[in-house]
Amino acid sequence: MNYNINEKGYYGEFGGAYIPEMLYPNVEELRQNYLKVMAEPEFQKEFNQLLKDYVGRPSPLYFAKRLSKKYNTKVYLKREDLNHTGAHKINNTIGQILMAKRLGKHRIIAETGAGQHGVATATVCALMGLECIVYMGEIDIARQAPNVARMKMLGATVVPALSGSRTLKDATNEAIRDWINNPVDTHYIIGSVVGPHPYPDMVARFQAVVSEEIQWQLQEHEGKTNPDYVVACVGGGSNAAGAYYHFLENTDVKLIAIEAAGLGVDSGESAATSVLGKEGIIHGSKTLLMQTNDGQITEPYSISAGLDYPGVGPMHAHLYKTGRAEFIAITDDQAMNAGLELCKLEGIIPAIESSHALAVFEQKKFQPEDVVVLSLSGRGDKDLQNYIDYFKF
Ligand SMILES: *Cc1c(COP(=O)(O)O)cnc(C)c1O
Repeated sequence: MNYNINEKGYYGEFGGAYIPEMLYPNVEELRQNYLKVMAEPEFQKEFNQLLKDYVGRPSPLYFAKRLSKKYNTKVYLKREDLNHTGAHKINNTIGQILMAKRLGKHRIIAETGAGQHGVATATVCALMGLECIVYMGEIDIARQAPNVARMKMLGATVVPALSGSRTLKDATNEAIRDWINNPVDTHYIIGSVVGPHPYPDMVARFQAVVSEEIQWQLQEHEGKTNPDYVVACVGGGSNAAGAYYHFLENTDVKLIAIEAAGLGVDSGESAATSVLGKEGIIHGSKTLLMQTNDGQITEPYSISAGLDYPGVGPMHAHLYKTGRAEFIAITDDQAMNAGLELCKLEGIIPAIESSHALAVFEQKKFQPEDVVVLSLSGRGDKDLQNYIDYFKF
């Protein structure tokens, strides 16, 4: 069994590039060039230098002593929360901005839901002095005012998406429309392992630095490169893809994917795509997505803005379908409590997305000798108001 992408851009039956004909030249240009460009020594050098000096990599692999004691197993946290801009998303936007420059693009567009990917994109555009346009649903603009302000401070133009439900999927549609209209000078930075081939693979490769570091860091801590488990939350799936990447083909390393159950998988207010989703096409790729019986995409719900996406990347659809990864759905309540527990036990305030992953320890029993690496995808500063509202601090 192969868990990586094949030469046609599929993970098993999922993936591909289902795009309008007018988008074909842009996507094809990227497909023909991305591996070649990424392999260039100059590209590698610049990418690694920025990850080191600008992002602050390598991020620590931290042995969480008190958390480990509580759950009687060995827990290591991969500290993506310590990256510049506070999450793993910057790894991908650094990679894509360098790709855009190599392809001669000087105008950058992006979509954003909660605004985290918009901020990461606006950041690298400022860094490179490139024009940045971020599409964002009108509802999300109202809900995520601090991130909108951040993007503006960084010099980006935030364009409201006024159609449909005025949230992430509508922002994505607007970004695609822009790209069709500006095929020559514009690069579209997608924020997760979603979208038409080659995006899922390209984003996974940029995020793969996470598992590359885990290997040598674990060697230092434990004298071996492979953990027994890798745990990560899944929205579109990019932090998970990065944490899994170098372990995908090694089935001794068990993979656990945590999805947001919202108010409960059967409540109608959920984002647990693997359980609730069916095969379909969203944003250019064939994958699992939440839809009505006649194929309309349903609005997902989670307390975590970064996890309420109606689909999941094709890699994860394949990991689910083949059983390579175990999928666990975590409710809002379970996540919030696990997040607060990390604050008290380790002095780390996690992003609510990451809190979902942390809830694994209440759901699943690990052995005392197991080495469990958990992707702490982001820090909780952005979620403070949500934590306050929930716990009434
Ligand atoms: C965006 C985000 C996620 C979800 O996105 P993935 O592509 O699934 O990783 C998870 N954690 C944080 C902190 C995020 O900002």
